[in-house]
Amino acid sequence: MKAPYLGRIDLYWCQNCNVPVLAKKCCACEKATEKISITPPGDVRPAFAHDIEVINQAAEEGFGVPLIRDERIVLLNSVPGFDRFDEIIVDGAVAGALRFDVEKLHLEFMPRLEGAARIWTAGASKGFVEVAEDAAKYILDGKSVLMPGVVGFDRGLQAGQEVIVTAGGRVIAVGKTRFSGEQAASTDKGMFVKVRKRAGTGDNRIPAGGQSRETLLAANKGVIQSFESEALAFIKKTIDAHKLPVVVSFSGGKDSLATLLLVRKIIEPKVLFIDTGIEFPETLAYVEKIAREFDLDLITAEAGDRFWKGMDVFGMSGRDYRWCCKVSKLGPVAKVMAESYPEGFLNFIGQRRYESEIRAKSGRIWRNSWLPRQLCASPIQNWTALHIWLYIFREEAEANPLYEQGLERIGCWVCPSSSLAETYSFRELHPEMWQRFENALFSQGFTADEVKFGFWRWRSLPNGQRSLMDDLGVEPCNRRQRPSPGESDTVRVENLASVLGGEVTDDISLRASLCLGCGVCLAHCGQGAIEFQGGKVWVGEGCLGCGKCHVRCPIVKYL
Ligand code: SF4
Ligand code: SF4
Ligand SMILES: [Zn+2]
Repeated sequence: MKAPYLGRIDLYWCQNCNVPVLAKKCCACEKATEKISITPPGDVRPAFAHDIEVINQAAEEGFGVPLIRDERIVLLNSVPGFDRFDEIIVDGAVAGALRFDVEKLHLEFMPRLEGAARIWTAGASKGFVEVAEDAAKYILDGKSVLMPGVVGFDRGLQAGQEVIVTAGGRVIAVGKTRFSGEQAASTDKGMFVKVRKRAGTGDNRIPAGGQSRETLLAANKGVIQSFESEALAFIKKTIDAHKLPVVVSFSGGKDSLATLLLVRKIIEPKVLFIDTGIEFPETLAYVEKIAREFDLDLITAEAGDRFWKGMDVFGMSGRDYRWCCKVSKLGPVAKVMAESYPEGFLNFIGQRRYESEIRAKSGRIWRNSWLPRQLCASPIQNWTALHIWLYIFREEAEANPLYEQGLERIGCWVCPSSSLAETYSFRELHPEMWQRFENALFSQGFTADEVKFGFWRWRSLPNGQRSLMDDLGVEPCNRRQRPSPGESDTVRVENLASVLGGEVTDDISLRASLCLGCGVCLAHCGQGAIEFQGGKVWVGEGCLGCGKCHVRCPIVKYL
């Protein structure tokens, strides 16, 4: 998968202070910083204690020693790929990557030379192949590791394992084995290691550790101040330009926390939290705590159990079948708007360009076509995750504890956009909740293997997932088909049909009978003609018969 370029990557390193800096000059020592080459989009974030633990566990599993052995600032750079793939940045260089192996279902450490040198110096006891000095020069010249040049190796190596290649006591390359250590012991022919990176001329100097969050903040003081000033000016200008009530969306995640901190420096806003009914319990407790401590004017838009009910109607949602966002997020907001903000509101949202191509293109002020009266604005559109974290650290604000527990994305816990690695983190954290979800997937017809390898996250599998399924020998299940309206709600069918041209179509029957009462249609009626009777849609006085509510109903759109 090609890594998209979504914005400038201003990641530098102060070699003097040994910390990352988001500018060309370090504010702590005034020295010039050095640019770091990382894979786009470059939305780097700090590694927390749990992340370091996970990195070290993976390094120990592969090489017998940890990668990070003392306190220092470590960054993670999430690279778009098949599943979780994070570059690990230490001491101003990419030391390697943490990759979730979707077949073996575990995290693997892939060293780059900088990481390999650290691991070798620390006394790696496994995961290595040693070659003779005269073979080393061919490898450094671009060849792979052939058996005749090999003088030593870890007998426990598996085929396809990440290894460090050494010669004369130094690291000369890193790569992947083509066959196992056992097989290597009984042959003197063939390519043992396919080399991925070879050593250059750089030294393997390891700078002193001991850098704290304070050093990091001091080095980035200027850049954070200037990003803050720019965002505050934007917020002020946007509020002045659109005379609308101001609402900040707060999801409990870091981006919305930074947005909330910024907006509160200009105005005391209303704060909107969408309780989708599939929030992490930690998030619910955290939002409540922040609301109390900040004395927020909090509005909670609640979806109740609509996600679970929606599963009965639509089947499981997927990356290519996202009814869940409409039913569990947009619907509850549409209800709040219809009740309290018929003229709409100015909604500050923590959206950033580095998150996705769609977000990079959306600009800083936009309208959501599903909620036409919501004017959205993002003060942090051009911030990377590191800007956000530095701002939160500087403001000494408390972030959602889930970040410290190794989660990167704090959203609905059953989200089909989750990586497989994230689903495994979640099931470790809340096994009983995961069990409920698994049972729901089984009742949709998914097999145990489809659940295990995450194939439930698509309605129609993309090519890569299809190949994985073939490689694993997993059979696709017969997923549930479109439901029938069941017992037809004739009075409601007539009500909808009477305003939508008189004819009773399939769409009208389905909408009338299967309505979830989600509220999405409310956002599209400028006449205030939609009501709810018995929790289901009813078109009342004032309807013009325009049909706008009908085409946007998730039941009409997705079934
Ligand atoms: S009719 Fe309205 S409330 Fe019912 S499912 Fe459709 S959009 Fe939701
Ligand atoms: S048909 Fe048009 S006017 Fe009537 S309820 Fe739907 S959106 Fe409102
Ligand atoms: Zn410095």
